[in-house]
Amino acid sequence: MSGIRDNGGVSLYRDEGVVLRTQKLGEADRIVTLLTRRTGLVRAVGKGVRRTKSRFGARLEPFSHVDLQLYTGRTLDVITQAETVRAYGESIVGDYSRYTAATAMLETAEKIVVVEKDPALRQFLLLIGALRTLGEGSHDSRLVLDAYLLRSLAVAGYAPALNECAKCGTRGEHRSFAVHAGGSVCTVCRPHGATHPAAQTLQLMLALLGGDWPAADASEERHRNECSGLVAAYLQWHLENGIRSLRLVERS
Ligand SMILES: [Zn+2]
Repeated sequence: MSGIRDNGGVSLYRDEGVVLRTQKLGEADRIVTLLTRRTGLVRAVGKGVRRTKSRFGARLEPFSHVDLQLYTGRTLDVITQAETVRAYGESIVGDYSRYTAATAMLETAEKIVVVEKDPALRQFLLLIGALRTLGEGSHDSRLVLDAYLLRSLAVAGYAPALNECAKCGTRGEHRSFAVHAGGSVCTVCRPHGATHPAAQTLQLMLALLGGDWPAADASEERHRNECSGLVAAYLQWHLENGIRSLRLVERS
């Protein structure tokens, strides 16, 4: 792996990552969970970061994009340096809808990548792209969140079927949607419990998945609501234990 060098028996490496979560450890330390560019999901100890004099404690907060130096520990790696690349938190924590959307993104990133130290570059790029877009405030926060969730699922191999029947593969825009079947389904395959979203809702999901922002921005509120509900149900179905913070996302 690039960036690793041996320093008297201690492996040092550099990487950059987004802080997903922090947990207290002992009196002054924190366990910091990050999604990194090269190493994937990393859980590392930030020593002394809860002390006010800590050199980099404030940089290791959720939503921060940081450049790091770490060494490989026996159980957890240890962070020895942290420099801020971009503090997305500044533009996110002051706005409730951005904050709840970003919180759901961080939780999803951790649960969708799952395995530690398994490179997940596309998930990392999706996450920093979504946090940047959210911070800019150029699109509705819920649309940014739903676009992120759909694309993150797609990268993980769980893209919902939207242009074909999830069961038989018949092409076309089918009007029924079944979370447990994998997306839209034709009238022949439609299982018990399938819903019947508006055609515009499925088109919105396609626009978000494909990054068609002009189409997504032009969508109506009721279709956004229906889309958010379907995306949330679909995500919860695919991820073990679900995403708790999705409950906080405002659904007007
Ligand atoms: Zn079918």
